[in-house]
Amino acid sequence: MNKKRVGIIGAGPSGLAQLRAFEAAKKKGEEVPEIVCFEKQSNWGGMWNYSWRTGVGKYGEPIHGSMYKYLWSNGPKECLEFSDYSFDEHFKKTISSYPPRPVLFDYIQGRIKKDNVRDYIRFDTTARWVSFDDSTKKFTLVLDDLKNNKTYTEEFDYLVVASGHFSTPNMPYFKGIENFPGNVIHAHDFRGADQYKDQNLLLIGSSYSAEDIGVQCYKHGAKSVTLSYRTNPIGVSWPEGIKEMPLVTHFEDDIAHFNNGETEKYDAVIMCTGYQHKFPFLPSKMRLKTKNNLYPDNLYKGVFFNELPQLIYLGMQDQYYTFNMFDTQAWMARDYMLGKIELPSKEERRADMDTWLKRNDDLGHGHDAVDFQSDYIKDIIKLSDYPAFNIDKVAVMFKEWLSDKEENILTYRDKTYRSVVTGTMAAEHHTEWMDEMDDSKERYLNEPEEEEPEEVKMNVRI
Ligand code: FAD
Ligand code: NAP
Ligand code: MG
Repeated sequence: MNKKRVGIIGAGPSGLAQLRAFEAAKKKGEEVPEIVCFEKQSNWGGMWNYSWRTGVGKYGEPIHGSMYKYLWSNGPKECLEFSDYSFDEHFKKTISSYPPRPVLFDYIQGRIKKDNVRDYIRFDTTARWVSFDDSTKKFTLVLDDLKNNKTYTEEFDYLVVASGHFSTPNMPYFKGIENFPGNVIHAHDFRGADQYKDQNLLLIGSSYSAEDIGVQCYKHGAKSVTLSYRTNPIGVSWPEGIKEMPLVTHFEDDIAHFNNGETEKYDAVIMCTGYQHKFPFLPSKMRLKTKNNLYPDNLYKGVFFNELPQLIYLGMQDQYYTFNMFDTQAWMARDYMLGKIELPSKEERRADMDTWLKRNDDLGHGHDAVDFQSDYIKDIIKLSDYPAFNIDKVAVMFKEWLSDKEENILTYRDKTYRSVVTGTMAAEHHTEWMDEMDDSKERYLNEPEEEEPEEVKMNVRI
């Protein structure tokens, strides 16, 4: 009998979770399908694979990455830890709760390197188009081998879309912005705070990007940062030099007009206005159509496309939980593809989704949202053998994290949390976050050498 074939689009944390899930089954002696993962970049890691480029890459594909220099985890690492591969196992030492990007990138790779899953990935390959044949029940993928400039097609029984949804900017228009004399970019193209030193900066948006880019620019020497909100302000107690204003109505040269009648001059504008779920490789009837929220419609158990459950989406939710949520999704999806989980009828799936959607509609902010995503993970983790972790304790950590930020947005990253996987209490980082200007892995993992006291230096000279 021919082996079933699984195609995966994207080798970010979600796609890698799917590969790892199949490896885990293989290790237990189960027979697994033939798997191919397509990744348009030259390396894995998705967002965590930093790109200094903006615009297009060396083969002319849109740059996927939205991360920047000096990006540190914005939530405690204890909230995202893989339950089958702990931070302790990877680093062989206790690290702090908020590592910088290169350290988390290293961690993601550790689990995957252990398993040799690189062989399943075709790098520099873009999924260009997907079609589905109703009679054969197979997907045909049109693929572009970017290096060799060759197009080819392959057939699959299951398709896993793990292409991420924080890459295509949502860029609103404000009257007069076309005549703004300074730099105007979207957060997707922000690569570091250095160029904004001594500038008066306007950020539009009031979510994680606005908060973090604002704080980064403040830390690295911007003269002032204004955050302009549409619906709600972020509302933490800001330090002198950062403030929140209501929405901009229009621009007149370098002057922004706000809807409370105030005006102010700026040197640069960064639109922290979120992203679009964009699937240019999918025809509209297979395309997930959603905004960034905790329960995108039409995904049963958050992953199975209701019209066609052989089409699986990973990581499409807004994210409190990240790596551990992608894992629980991927393990469940694997068991469906292995024929171990049978899905109920389309109508029953619709009813289940409707219950979640109703709860999502009634959701308040903060704590309710954390509980919602925690309950979602509890609902799906029981469907596979993904190692259980204490979700209630993680939810408590998320809530503490929210109040840490409210209390002091500049120091919350100095706090420490206890792992629910190993029980280890995080170490304090050797340097306070506000004084730490180097985000390299080397600097992070090694205690900096003590400066010699002045008198010792003088003695040496004598
Ligand atoms: P991605 O990481 O986006 O990976 C998707 C992959 O699919 C990419 O490698 C891309 O190249 C590939 N791809 C896309 N289209 C195609 C195609 N057509 N063909 C082939 N390959 C394709 N999460 C945290 O837990 N902590 C943080 O501190 C944190 N910081 C973040 C900061 C920023 C600025 C952003 C934008 C996100 C951050 N996140 C953070 C959330 C982040 O989205 C997740 O951690 C994670 O990267 C999502 O994984 P993913 O695999 O679903 O998507
Ligand atoms: P987001 O959470 O989807 O928020 C989008 C923001 O844009 C909202 O505040 C929204 O306001 C606003 N907005 C949208 N359209 C607008 C318009 N026309 N005018 C004014 N405001 C508008 O997107 P995000 O903040 O970019 O975050 C994306 C992801 O990146 C998150 O997962 C986050 O955790 C991650 N991230 C992490 C870090 C880190 O430090 N590690 C840093 C940055 C981002 P409304 O409330 O009015 O809709
Ligand atoms: Mg994308």
